[in-house]
Amino acid sequence: MDYFPVFLKVTDKPCLVIGAGTVAYRKIQLLLKSKASVIVVAPDISQEVQQLADNHQIEIRHKVFETDDLVNATLVIAATSDHSINTTIAEAANQHSIPVNVVDTPDLSTFIFPAIVERPPLTIAVSSGGLSPVLVRMMRERLETLIPSRFGRLAEFAASFRQSVKQGINSVEQRRRFWENILYGPIAELVFAGQINEANQRLQRQLDSLQGGSQMSGSVALVGAGPGDLELLTLRALRLIQQADVIVYDRLVSTEILDLSRRDAEKIYAGKARSQHSMSQESINQLLVRLAKSGKQVVRLKGGDPFIFGRGGEEIETLAEENIIFQIVPGITAASGCASYAGIPLTHRDYAQSCVFITGHLQSGGVNLNWEQLTVPNQTIVVYMGLIGLPQICQQLIEAGKHSDTPAALVEHGTHQDQRVITGTLQTLPGIVNKAEVSAPTLLIIGDAIRLREKLQWFQEAPVRLT
Ligand code: SAH
Repeated sequence: MDYFPVFLKVTDKPCLVIGAGTVAYRKIQLLLKSKASVIVVAPDISQEVQQLADNHQIEIRHKVFETDDLVNATLVIAATSDHSINTTIAEAANQHSIPVNVVDTPDLSTFIFPAIVERPPLTIAVSSGGLSPVLVRMMRERLETLIPSRFGRLAEFAASFRQSVKQGINSVEQRRRFWENILYGPIAELVFAGQINEANQRLQRQLDSLQGGSQMSGSVALVGAGPGDLELLTLRALRLIQQADVIVYDRLVSTEILDLSRRDAEKIYAGKARSQHSMSQESINQLLVRLAKSGKQVVRLKGGDPFIFGRGGEEIETLAEENIIFQIVPGITAASGCASYAGIPLTHRDYAQSCVFITGHLQSGGVNLNWEQLTVPNQTIVVYMGLIGLPQICQQLIEAGKHSDTPAALVEHGTHQDQRVITGTLQTLPGIVNKAEVSAPTLLIIGDAIRLREKLQWFQEAPVRLT
């Protein structure tokens, strides 16, 4: 490490800025944010800096720099455009052992400015020791996206309880565990969601019951894992998966995504393969309740979006009845994922003004749908769970009046590396699919917008071979 990282307290301390142009202005603003007492030395003052003086936020010395200006200064920033003046300032500051920064000149500086990410009262500082400002900027951008903007709120929330937690829990170790549970857990999620009152009450209750010797309460996040490609996860889904104690997952969730979880996280398969549900819906609901009540942070991970043909609503109803903290994280549904990766716009000004999502699941051997409604022109139809019923669906649409030449596509393993797209028409697709040895999951798309695929296909797909 070439520099010693510190956060300097400058509240009400005289901090000297020499120069009063745009660069100086930026540094002055930073100092003012830290509540420093700013003194600017410069013969010419820019309008924006003058404005600060007019507002009594800074003091101005209208003159060229002299060594005497350094008296009592806590730190010095040289921001003149004259290299020799900057050098004089740096030398004088060094003689008086005052930390000095010469803007954009690390050789003359005894301290440098880090890039900062602000989530007040939290501040994250990044530095490459002056070697690569672009790399630092890249890091800062990553941090900006990784750290929820409401993180500051969490810090404030924690600060407001700091004293009472300290009084309530004597052991340092226990206190650390308590805070870990709060900051990684459902109460933090409430704060992120802006439910501060609820979070306050829960934390207070937690603290009270802990003193009575009981356990921390858990929570459930119903998380959409998207259609398969790992990179289609939301940032929130990623964070919750990484934090979870237990993950209850469906068949459609890829192992790549499960691998993002903690090594010691428990993973429970809840099945949902077609017609062989390995766990009944009721027992999944009860499992989630039981896990949350035992204090676990549970992620209920579902393929695509939990609220689209995912029975998400049913699971959440039980949790709500049991007064368990829960949240719902949307995912990219198969229709969006498959359509994008197949180059088929679901809506298009020329081809489709509307789009419907339907389930093609067979019930007592048939597909029960409002076929007339599905024949409206200029509409894309997306059929989930439609592989087995494919011949019937195509046949019934034709019988209801849809043209047999209407383009139709079956997307197999959409967004996965082995994605295949089989195209045809309502008339021909079932026969082609029959010869292509298809396996689930597949999504059926019907409509004229499929014609655009010829131009818009971009994803490297596996070839379709017919037997
Ligand atoms: N909640 C999920 C859908 C669950 S129903 C979502 O929003 O996507 C399961 C059906 O979704 C499957 O039968 C299939 O039709 C479709 N599906 C899910 N993932 C898919 C994928 N990667 N490729 C093709 N179809 C998929």
